[in-house]
Parts: sequence; structure tokens; C-alpha cells
Amino acid sequence: MIKKSILCPLIVSAGLLACGVNPVTKEREFQFVSQDKEIQIGQQNYSPARQSQGGDYTLDPELTRYVQQVGQRLAAVSDRPDLPYEFVVLNDSVPNAWAMPGGKIAFNRGLLYELHSEAELAAVLGHEIVHAAARHGAKGMERGIFMQGAMLAVGLATRDSNYANLVVGGAQLGGQLITSKYGREAESEADHYGMKYMKLAGYDPAAAVTLQETFVRLSQGKRQDFLSGLFASHPPSQERVDLNEKTLAELGTGGEMGTEIYAQKVAKLMATREAYKAYDEGKEALQKGDTEKAKTLAKKAISIEPREARFEELLGDIALTKKNTTEALAFYDKAIQMQPDYFKPYVQSGIALFNAGKKEQAESFLKKANALLPTAPGYALLGQIAEGRGETALALQHYQLAASSDSEIGKEAAARAMRLDLPRNPGRYLPAGPLAGDTGMVYAAVQNNSNVPVGRVQVRMLQYDSRGRMVNQTRSMLITGGIAPGRRGSVATGVRIIDQADLQFFRVVVEGAELAN
Ligand SMILES: [Zn+2]
Repeated sequence: MIKKSILCPLIVSAGLLACGVNPVTKEREFQFVSQDKEIQIGQQNYSPARQSQGGDYTLDPELTRYVQQVGQRLAAVSDRPDLPYEFVVLNDSVPNAWAMPGGKIAFNRGLLYELHSEAELAAVLGHEIVHAAARHGAKGMERGIFMQGAMLAVGLATRDSNYANLVVGGAQLGGQLITSKYGREAESEADHYGMKYMKLAGYDPAAAVTLQETFVRLSQGKRQDFLSGLFASHPPSQERVDLNEKTLAELGTGGEMGTEIYAQKVAKLMATREAYKAYDEGKEALQKGDTEKAKTLAKKAISIEPREARFEELLGDIALTKKNTTEALAFYDKAIQMQPDYFKPYVQSGIALFNAGKKEQAESFLKKANALLPTAPGYALLGQIAEGRGETALALQHYQLAASSDSEIGKEAAARAMRLDLPRNPGRYLPAGPLAGDTGMVYAAVQNNSNVPVGRVQVRMLQYDSRGRMVNQTRSMLITGGIAPGRRGSVATGVRIIDQADLQFFRVVVEGAELAN
């Protein structure tokens, strides 16, 4: 493997840069994110990220324990055995696995279907452990690639059902952490050291080669769920197969394969695979508006696996689509009884109750939902409830949070926030300043940067001396006529100047404005 060395300066400026040795590669590198910070980021984002990816798969605790055991066995021989590793199986059919800084790892139900042995499971887990141990996520944050806002969560957000593109506030970081690409060098590192960990833990590293071959084959089949899941963040290639072959030659074959034990442990999961297939197709049918087909598929899923909360929730979503509030609420209630710590039936119940005019009941469901996973619909409706009660400041807070999601709901919340806030803080939305006409007349000009027309714009112009003291002010003046979105309006102030440079002594304050409809 080609290794780049990074020169670390001896003198560190402004306390921002820190030099360290990468725990896995032992190379010197810049480290802005401390280990404490890494662990904190992982702990804060693990739960909301799991919520946004289908929630935990709770129906087979023995399977989860098995994945945890294999994970801990590898973590113990890793270069950072002291990280607070956690492993969980997510209730998501997309074949995917991810690691967060600090060793928080998740494994989708959908990827377990595709593996053939415990050693292949170890290959995926070893790879993810390297991502955490070698600080790949932290390095991404250091490069700033996770800090560019909500648009980065697009990888998995194209999927309908998981609210991934509706997550708001601080929890957006979690989505960015698990959907961003690490880059080719990081992927090679994760493959290479992951195989080393397999060998140290007693697994046959040959499984990393067969696993990679399976991935290449599946990616050539262009299975959409693979392309949106694992392959978006860990692109497979013949090059990776070849590199794994090379690593295998160095490490030597031999070790535990665990084909039978794996088959035993996933037997229950495999037995309900058809139920989840029906459920996934049912969700798709509902999205296309075919409620009858969706219902048939949901019932098929329940007939195979009657314990799954998501299937009841789908029946709830179908009833909600048909505006049958009572029926929808009953299904959501059943889903909540079956799995009380998943956000979606709470937010859906809140929507159903809100639409039925039962705002107080809606409020408690929405609050519970937002505590599990803050979402745009949750905060947008809480905003409307607060606004209805005349709690303007609280409504604004909620709308502004909802508006942080790059979605239709987010845009609508932003517009509602502005409608509420404009009369109180017109200057926030309407930048204003002095302009001089040909004759030296000074105009108070106001720019409408919002997306709605405004009217009754009241301005006052203040005049300062060269030492910044206010020496004069006009009376409050009305800009007649409305100002369309993106346009400017102005009013003559009666003040004249001789030199354009004198404009610097004037300020325009927007004292009032209304939304024109
Ligand atoms: Zn990877």
C-alpha cells in the first residue's frame, strides 16, 4: 500500500492544529478532533442515526448478540481496543453497514442475508472497525466535508420510508457521518487492516476475498438497493478484490470460517425474509398511491411475521393516506406497543391527530417523536400548535428547526416563520440603505429578499457625524405600494447631499412591514 507522509509542524498556531500518530497506520497526521470528541460525537449521533435508518431490529436478540460477539472479538485485537465499541442490527433491508467515530457500528438486516459465513461477517465488521479505529470519520470531519449542511445526507435520503432527509437540527450530523464516502485510500486501509484483525481474531481472512467478490458481482447486477447502500459508501471493485488477494498472500489462509454456525444464527432471519420483501414492496406500492396493493402486501408480511411493529405501522400509513384517522391511530398504537422506542409511529400519530383537529393529543406524540429523532414534520406541526396558542417565540423556534431540513416541509416552515416574524423583525428580512438620486436627493431603499410580497413598509433614516454620533433623523415614512419578492422599493427622504461619499453618514431602519397577499 502506498503511504503518504504528512509533515506536522513543530510550532502549532492558534491552538487549532494538533499532531498525532494514526492509531492504525502509525503515520503522523494532523488531528483536530480529539479522542474524547470522537467518542462524544459517536455517542450523540448513534441513536438518532439508527432511528433514521429503520431503527433497531429487535425481534431476534440472539442474532444481535451474535453480531456483537463477533464484533467485540475483532475489536479486542484492533489497534484501539479501548474505544467504547457498540454493534447493533438495524431493521433495514438495504444491504449496508456503517461505523461512526468512537466505534459505534451498525449492521443492516439486509446485509446479513447476503453473507455465507461468520468469517464474512467478520470481514465486514473488521472493515468497519478500521474505519472507526483509524479515525476515518474524524478525518472526514477535519477536512470539513461533513459540515456543509443538509445536502450531504442525500446518499440514503432518496429512500422514501425512513425520514432520512427530514432529520433536523444537530441530528443531521449523524446522517452525514454514515452516508459520506471515506475515499479510496481509507477503503483500502479498512480492507487491509480489517483482514489483519480477522487473522488476529482467528478467522480465515480468505473470507474477505470471497466477500469482495460477492460485492463486485452484486454491483455488476446493479441492484438498486446495493447501489444506494453499501456501495455508495464503500464502492466495490476488481482492484479491491486483487488487493485483498495480495493481503491474503501476506497473512496466509487458515482459520475459522464458521459457515454452519452462521447459517444457524441467521436461520430465523432467513425464515422471515419474504415478509420483509412483501413489506418493502408494500411501502413502494403505498408511495405510488396503490393502497389496495399495499394493504395486501402488509397483510402477507404479518401472516409470516406477526411480531413486527413496522408491518402494523404500514397498515397505519395506509389508513392515514385514506384519511381514516381512527384506524390509523389504532395501528400506530399497536406498533408502539410492539416497539416503544422507535420514532415513526409517534410522529405519524401526531400527524393523524393534528389533521383531525386534536392538537393537544398531537402535541404529546410529536414531542415524544422528536425526542427519539427530531424531524421536520414533527417540528413544523409543533410550530403550528404553538402559533395557534399565540406562543409566537416558541412557534418561531420550532419553524426554524423544521426549516433546517432541505425539503418541502422545511420550505413551508421557513415561510411560516417569516410570516410570523416579519411584522416583529422586518429588518431581518428586508435589508435597507440610503441611495442618492441624480439631483442629490437621498432615498431610503428597501430590498425584499424574501419569497413573498410585502407592503406597508415603514422606514426612518438616521444621520451620523464623522465620529459616529447620531445627529439627525427623519420621521417615519411609508414606502407606497408593495415590494415584490426580489425587488426594491424606496421613498424620497427630503434630505439632499452634494457628494455621493456623504451617503456613508446615513442609515435606514425598517420600522414596520406587513405581508401583502
Ligand atoms: Zn468502508
